[in-house]
Amino acid sequence: MTVCSPSGKAQNWTPLALILARKSPPLQFSAIGFSFLNRQPARGSAHLLRAHFIDLTVRLYSCCNCRNHVSLHDDIISKAFQGRNGRAFLFSHAMNIVVGPKEDRHLLTGLHTVADVHCSDCREVLGWKYERAYEASQKYKEGKFILEKSKIVKENW
Ligand SMILES: [Zn+2]
Repeated sequence: MTVCSPSGKAQNWTPLALILARKSPPLQFSAIGFSFLNRQPARGSAHLLRAHFIDLTVRLYSCCNCRNHVSLHDDIISKAFQGRNGRAFLFSHAMNIVVGPKEDRHLLTGLHTVADVHCSDCREVLGWKYERAYEASQKYKEGKFILEKSKIVKENW
């Protein structure tokens, strides 16, 4: 589809609404929002926007404190982890979170470099991110997230 950008130049792109309408059956979304990928763009370049939309058919986990959506059920790698306060889940991804400073911690499975993970809305500590594992058998955890079961609640189940 060809549309005109604000500068009057024709550009080929597909508006988000069209992408969604093409899905069959149509998906329902509870929220569509945008955030900046580059809040302060270099001189002469444009702001980049990222679209966020929440599919109502997807099973989510939310922050126990403010119900901010923080992870998807489909991203669970393991439910057999130990957090600070009991059981915890290992996720391949997390969203709407803030990653704190890195620190070395001796965990049950050896030395790791980890960073606490906070809810981006209420700042509750939800778990941690594995930045680095020192033992070969633990490398699969690098870049993954531990969220404590007691800090997240199910949404859309
Ligand atoms: Zn929260």
